[in-house]
Amino acid sequence: MRFITSNRIFSGKDFLTDNTVVVLDNKGIIIDITTSDKLESVNIEHFEGIITPGFINTHCHLELSHLKGVIKQHTGIVDFGLGVIKHRHDASPEHQQEAMIQADKDMFQEGIVAVGDISNTNSSMTAKQLSNIHYHTFVELIALNPERSDLVFNTGKELLTEFKSNHLSASLAPHAPYSTSIELIEKITNDCFLAKQPSSIHNQESAAENEFFNTKSGDYIRLYESIGLPVTYFKATSKSSLQSIISAFNKGVPTLLVHNTFTNKNDIDIAQNQHPQLYWCLCPNANLYIENTLPDIALLVNNQCMLTLGTDSLASNSGLSIISEINTIQKHQPAISLELLLKAATYNGAQFLGLENQFGLIEINRKCGINLIEGHTGNYSVKKLA
Ligand SMILES: [Zn+2]
Repeated sequence: MRFITSNRIFSGKDFLTDNTVVVLDNKGIIIDITTSDKLESVNIEHFEGIITPGFINTHCHLELSHLKGVIKQHTGIVDFGLGVIKHRHDASPEHQQEAMIQADKDMFQEGIVAVGDISNTNSSMTAKQLSNIHYHTFVELIALNPERSDLVFNTGKELLTEFKSNHLSASLAPHAPYSTSIELIEKITNDCFLAKQPSSIHNQESAAENEFFNTKSGDYIRLYESIGLPVTYFKATSKSSLQSIISAFNKGVPTLLVHNTFTNKNDIDIAQNQHPQLYWCLCPNANLYIENTLPDIALLVNNQCMLTLGTDSLASNSGLSIISEINTIQKHQPAISLELLLKAATYNGAQFLGLENQFGLIEINRKCGINLIEGHTGNYSVKKLA
């Protein structure tokens, strides 16, 4: 047994009283939560820093791990996307596997215990099967042309079955508003509803995305021209992307909106009115890498958006670390409280993935992982205690 305590202990929802001691068995399962005055003649390990549950990374693309440093920073999303398309098959399959296994190990070292991971192929299956981390795979589907929705949906279901038959948790997810038709979003999220699984979509990562929906102009026209895909069937909506697509989502499905860099108050109001189970994922390091800007996090907080954190992929980040994402937010938007960010990094993420009975909360009979956060505001590091 281990008896551990620190200057502050964050449960996943809030800070516990000062003299709290967490008791772990030799497998890392929490067997008691008590206070130091109730313990006699035991060796209490006291750590300098903040104890938290293991972190939940709700947005990652493990299969892009070999693209670290390959794509230039600050290009904007369209050229970033074209860079991924151009380079994702450059590395050998062996090198891609090695990069995924290393990225997975790095995440584990950084105190991450569960990941929501976007996959377009089956290439990440081996790394996930070997991992100490719990993965939920979002099999990501892309087809803006509504005529392709049946074909793409059926192909996606085959890949989904492959993950599930290898005992990996998985569900379908649309890629982004500008790349998935309303018809396909409906099919995907109805499938998630029947399977009682969450879904996810990239949302308003660029100003160009809103422009494409509002007036069918801007950088996404260049994207579709440069990959030789005419979008004659697409009609402008005179609304932002989020406002244009939110009603297509099944309201019974916990849904992650990833990035939200160009989301305004009106978007939040309309989305939350339409959908009762939205989670808003922040990936600040990737936003700085690609668009060199950040979402208005205070706006999301003030409008009761349920926040989670994600790393995105190594194509748009120098590492896969939730504490690094917290540091970035603290440096750029210091008004956002540490308590709120820790809740996003733990309980909220676990709840979105449907894992709140297993992860995200320091509670008796759980093996949620235990992290120690050391250092100072904007410059924290993490150590795994269990
Ligand atoms: Zn992403």
